[in-house]
Amino acid sequence: MAETKQTTRTFTLNTGDKIPAVGLGTWRAKPNEVATAVEAALRAGYRHIDTAHAYGNEREVGDGIKASGVPRSEIWLTTKLDNPWHKHVVEGLSASLEALQTDYLDLFLMHWPCSTDSDDKSKHYADWDFRDTWREMQKLVGTGKVRNIGVSNFAITNMEKLLASPDTKVVPAVNQIELHPSNPSPKLVAYNTSKGIHSTGYSCLGSLDSPLYTNDKILGIAEAKGKTPQQVLLMWGLSKGWSVIPKSVTPKRVEANWQLDGWGLTDDEVKAIDSIPDRFKVCDDGWLPVKVFFGDDE
Ligand code: NAP
Repeated sequence: MAETKQTTRTFTLNTGDKIPAVGLGTWRAKPNEVATAVEAALRAGYRHIDTAHAYGNEREVGDGIKASGVPRSEIWLTTKLDNPWHKHVVEGLSASLEALQTDYLDLFLMHWPCSTDSDDKSKHYADWDFRDTWREMQKLVGTGKVRNIGVSNFAITNMEKLLASPDTKVVPAVNQIELHPSNPSPKLVAYNTSKGIHSTGYSCLGSLDSPLYTNDKILGIAEAKGKTPQQVLLMWGLSKGWSVIPKSVTPKRVEANWQLDGWGLTDDEVKAIDSIPDRFKVCDDGWLPVKVFFGDDE
């Protein structure tokens, strides 16, 4: 049974930097909730915070970091370039840094492989796509403002396109993708790994009103181990080899989700969770002006 100390565990990226295995997610947190959650997480010991310009809460995340008293240098901070900012990478980064009240990011992700026309958000630019955005993002490396660059929501089809582009000189350090037992994406994870790209699992608990919290297999394993379903779900992701970024704005849950040391799942328990047959996806691409998921992830 794997019993790594998960709260101090890191994954080494293709740049040599080490991303903490467990972070705090911040999507769909209501105003005035995030600063408290970030502060509670950092006080509990978390050292990895995940946000995005699109979440509209970067300023609150920055406030929470300040209120925690934890030095910025001890924190891994990830944010994401929003789709309508693809032609304005430098300005997008500056806006995020200003809101987060920091001089640098540990990880800057392209949120979606979708260059939304900033004048008409129902449209994709005709003369620009994610390869152009990545070309611009690469220029940030070495400026001191961004330690690592990566992508999010890249399926194999789009990752192949990105890596095949003559402009691509930097392999993304991370592909942040939806990963939970009902969307395990084994082909995509294996593909990322084969290219030296670390996978971070988002919606790792199954997101808002997760049906996984009442799944018989998860509940059975949780009960047998004296753990919560959420802890079991996080341990499953960690056992599979990706980082997890559970979101909670409830300080007690933030703390409970951090209780991941001194225990683990057996190979049989991991396999039992792997074999949960139900499938659902939290994030689809219907709201975007282009398709980004092609069913090529499992
Ligand atoms: P999630 O972390 O899978 O689940 C969050 C939900 O679970 C919230 O409703 C939360 O409630 C609840 N919860 C958390 N811990 C709990 C516990 N111990 N007991 C009971 N309920 C608990 O969902 P997510 O926000 O979709 O994903 C996590 C993070 O991944 C996001 O916040 C974001 O940072 C990132 N993400 C990235 C993308 C992308 O496109 N790159 C997409 C989606 C998500 P409360 O908050 O009310 O406590």
